[in-house]
Amino acid sequence: MPTLPSQVRIIEVAPRDGLQFERTTLTLKTKINFINQLSKTGVSNIEVGSFVSPAHIPQLADSDNVFRGITRNNNVIYSALVPNEIGMQRALAAQADSIAVFTAASETFCQKNIGCSIAESLQRFKTVIATAKCNGLWLRGYLSCAFGCPYENAVPTTQVVKLAKQLFTMGCDEISLGDTIGVATASQAKTLVLQVSGVVPLDKLAVHFHDTRGQALANILSCLQVGITRIDSAVAGLGGCPYAPGASGNIATEDVIYMLNGLGIKTGVNLKKVITTGHYITQQLGRHNASRVAIAGIPDWLQNES
Ligand code: MG
Repeated sequence: MPTLPSQVRIIEVAPRDGLQFERTTLTLKTKINFINQLSKTGVSNIEVGSFVSPAHIPQLADSDNVFRGITRNNNVIYSALVPNEIGMQRALAAQADSIAVFTAASETFCQKNIGCSIAESLQRFKTVIATAKCNGLWLRGYLSCAFGCPYENAVPTTQVVKLAKQLFTMGCDEISLGDTIGVATASQAKTLVLQVSGVVPLDKLAVHFHDTRGQALANILSCLQVGITRIDSAVAGLGGCPYAPGASGNIATEDVIYMLNGLGIKTGVNLKKVITTGHYITQQLGRHNASRVAIAGIPDWLQNES
């Protein structure tokens, strides 16, 4: 087997990317409890909320108060999704450690998702990025539909490479390649990461797989084999896929940690605590837990290693 990294960072996206696709809107108190629990699991990054228009994503309308209400762990980076300068100012007021901007590798998806062209989205980022840099914030760039688009089908690799390079050149500290509709397969995932690593250093790249077609763990493993060390995941597999109703959303953090533990790759994340947190939030949401590991449990003989 090719060399695997010895250590990986887990970017926990459930409070933002997960909850924004859930039908149930949680109370402020539940969101704060949820993030406080996640903060004690050992994950290094938590995406707390989003400063897009509250009318656009009502589930996250209280992100300002969520940030104010949580108990911060100094070992965790708390981030927020920011679409424009207004959102940036809210992120600063809320004392986010990091912000994320988002665009897509597909023109049609970008138009439908954020109502502008890819070029216009990059133009909007310029002021946001400048403000973020002035204030010393870590900056993540999301590239959606990097592996396929619900409208344009296959997305040319050259387009993904070009946009990843632009985001990096503009000042993003990290680029997350998103498989928004969960169509990627292991060979494609590895090939795309290798191509993008020609323009963005591997340690600045994250992968964001949805488990829509059950391929996410295989995709993550193949990306680990070519040197990826940053993985996005959501506890209990929160989130859905608006383009495939009823299908799974983000890969579950529990399942990723179980695989990484088995590979001897360190994450600093306590699997039992993540499982407990996943059960808590699925109870609050009244939905099933999409983590296979959470449902089946940790085998007795692995309990001490988790
Ligand atoms: Mg996602």
